[in-house]
Amino acid sequence: MGKNLDISFYNQAKGLTDNDPEQIRVVINDLRGATEKEARIAMESALLMEKVLNDLEFKTKVTNPPFIVEYTNGLSLQQIYDKIKSGSTELEPAVDRTANLRVSIYYKRFSRAIGYTYPDTVWQWFNRKFLLDSVSGRITLSSNFLHEYCHKCQFDHPYRGFSRREVPYFYGDSLETVADKFFKNGKLTVASSFM
Ligand SMILES: [Zn+2]
Repeated sequence: MGKNLDISFYNQAKGLTDNDPEQIRVVINDLRGATEKEARIAMESALLMEKVLNDLEFKTKVTNPPFIVEYTNGLSLQQIYDKIKSGSTELEPAVDRTANLRVSIYYKRFSRAIGYTYPDTVWQWFNRKFLLDSVSGRITLSSNFLHEYCHKCQFDHPYRGFSRREVPYFYGDSLETVADKFFKNGKLTVASSFM
């Protein structure tokens, strides 16, 4: 917060999108502490994040919300969306249209925190207490992946968020409102466009 943001990603991203479908790819580059079953759920949740980020209904929601979005780093809602989809993060600034996730699964029984990250690491942590093998479990994990990814893109919020109108909460909550359509009979119905 409070520091000058390099927005060269924005013009680079625009240049890239002229003739391209503007898709971002979401990849789990590394996963620690997960069982095989949890790993499968995590991959599906990452795929869900990819599908939602590339979804037009989601784009409409995050660029036309019925309230003022907070902690925008001075960017317009369109610029925020373009930055998120550029794949350019503070620690990995290349505009590669890829969200690289490194996820560590831990267990903390008496905690209400779903997950967390720090500014100086590419890793993010997720409490397996919330890693459930269900549609809502996958949506929760996907929403958290996106929340933490927003932090990687330098969007912040006060501790736990005061209004949920800060970018990481706004994006995570918006994902949750459109995610259902990618499931049928409890199963994810989509595949990555990049495989
Ligand atoms: Zn956060």
